[in-house]
Amino acid sequence: MSSLNHYDLIIIGTGAGGGTLAYHLAPSGKRILILERGGYVPREKDNWDSQVVNVDGHYNTKESWLDSEGKELHPHTNYYVGGNTKFYGAALFRLRKEDFGELRHFDGISPPWPISYDDLEPYYTQAENLYQVHGNRGEDPTEPAASAPYPWPAVSHEPRIQQLSDDFAQSGLKPFHVPVGVMLDEKNPQKSRCIRCNTCDGFPCLVYAKADAQVLCVDEAVKHSNVTLLTNSLVRRLETDASGREVKSVVVERNGSLETYSADVVVVSCGAINSAALLLRSANEKHPRGLANGSDVVGRHYMGHTNSVMMAISKCPNPTIFQKTLGVNDFYFGSSDWKYPMGHISFVGKLDAVTLKAGAPAIAPNFTLELMAKHSLDFWLTSEDLPDPNNRVTIGRDGKIVLTYTPNNLEAHERLQTKLKQAMKQTNCKIHGHECHQGLFGRNLYVGQRIPLAGVAHQNGTIRFGHDPKTSVLDVNCKAHDVDNLYVVDGSFFPSSSAVNPALTIIANAMRVGDHLLERMGVSDTEMAMVGSARKA
Ligand SMILES: Cc1cc2nc3c(=O)[nH]c(=O)nc-3n(C[C@H](O)[C@H](O)[C@H](O)COP(=O)(O)OP(=O)(O)OC[C@H]3O[C@@H](n4cnc5c(N)ncnc54)[C@H](O)[C@@H]3O)c2cc1C
Ligand code: SF4
Repeated sequence: MSSLNHYDLIIIGTGAGGGTLAYHLAPSGKRILILERGGYVPREKDNWDSQVVNVDGHYNTKESWLDSEGKELHPHTNYYVGGNTKFYGAALFRLRKEDFGELRHFDGISPPWPISYDDLEPYYTQAENLYQVHGNRGEDPTEPAASAPYPWPAVSHEPRIQQLSDDFAQSGLKPFHVPVGVMLDEKNPQKSRCIRCNTCDGFPCLVYAKADAQVLCVDEAVKHSNVTLLTNSLVRRLETDASGREVKSVVVERNGSLETYSADVVVVSCGAINSAALLLRSANEKHPRGLANGSDVVGRHYMGHTNSVMMAISKCPNPTIFQKTLGVNDFYFGSSDWKYPMGHISFVGKLDAVTLKAGAPAIAPNFTLELMAKHSLDFWLTSEDLPDPNNRVTIGRDGKIVLTYTPNNLEAHERLQTKLKQAMKQTNCKIHGHECHQGLFGRNLYVGQRIPLAGVAHQNGTIRFGHDPKTSVLDVNCKAHDVDNLYVVDGSFFPSSSAVNPALTIIANAMRVGDHLLERMGVSDTEMAMVGSARKA
């Protein structure tokens, strides 16, 4: 192998984890190779077309996986520079402090993390700064203490959402502004990069104003001459030396042939499902169950949240453009009538008739899809799913990914839906009073749709970190217990999934692991300080 193909560090995948890590390490001067299976999302008008994006699934991978019964499934996931952050809704939450400890749920135990909230707090602050999170501290009753304010004020509610927020507050709830990573400057609209449009959540941003891992991290990292990015480079296997303790080569399919690269340190960050698949496919004599899988935990404990979209139809129209500004966490840890955690309520981007056709909700009586879309408030509900070893990623026929998943903790989600229905009944509009929602609710106009298995947006948990090599794959620094130079920094390290969106935690953890790697690679304190000042500049 040519020494030109040897690097100090290889990062595989450029999403929330890998992209952020590349940004964090780039100023170190170390030779870094980034391998990404996708290319750049093409910038084209289709980026903002709901037919193309939501109905045709144009940007989704065309790869097919299998479910436990061997049926094909077409995952709603995206392989591009920036990973799924190109398409995410950019709701950037910290886990709650309690999420790091053990939590008793109706269906069982949500296990503790091997690090505490305080360990991650400084990195959450860095992550919020890097991803330009807009929010207001102190509104969300479950929010953990933070060492700094959000770098930007919250994205304001549009009138319909403000009215709902007021209604919720009047009924005793504590609605808050969702922290979001969009480059919106409401004080200087003419200069604002973000134009506050209705095609954000689930769409790539045509004007590069979403805080995603490509725009903020990878594009910045590759400005450093020590960083090389190879796109359309699919990592097929990791091979170890004879001892099995070191990854010695990374086998990449590129331009139709196989190439081999090596590095002192190899970081996998392909997303929770693909990272597990890569380790499983890299089985060898020393690692017969898959690379770093002495524990038999690789691929297990797959979690993806129990999510649903609930449309509440009102007599009043909802002309909101950017809907994802309001959240309710009053039921996150339970309520006076049910002591178990239920989860988190917020919004998806405003649904339109084109998208509704694809989702095929039951049509509300006397409403066309057009009318439903004009009158709906489109809620996004998230409940924690618990780590079950039988919910797992395996490799099936033809080397395809097999995703086996039996939902759990559903009672929590159903109760969360009921809480939302009750809260909506109490809204009191100026024109229709309680009837604006209540009457409609009576005729069953809430259309609840559970997100199906193919919806793997919040995938996590398949390569969990922990202290015990018997029950976890990674140590607290996200280094494989069984391999000395292998790390994982995507969503797979989660031992439990919490009920808030995962990306900010993946980003913060990548920065934490990044600091560990700088130390491991012997980047001196002075150089580290330079990294720090480069960040601030
Ligand atoms: C529509 C949508 C909306 C979402 N909204 C939110 C939100 O509002 N808030 C939030 O917190 N989260 C949200 N998410 C989830 C969020 O995007 C993910 O949690 C996050 O991107 C995961 O980061 P990751 O680094 O684990 O993986 P990814 O971002 O998926 O990155 C993995 C990368 O690895 C690459 N890759 C995979 N396999 C290989 C291989 N073998 N070789 C080379 N490269 C490979 C992929 O192409 C990809 O670039 C959303 C996701 C979607 C799809
Ligand atoms: S709302 Fe802003 S960040 Fe989101 S897609 Fe539109 S312009 Fe881009």
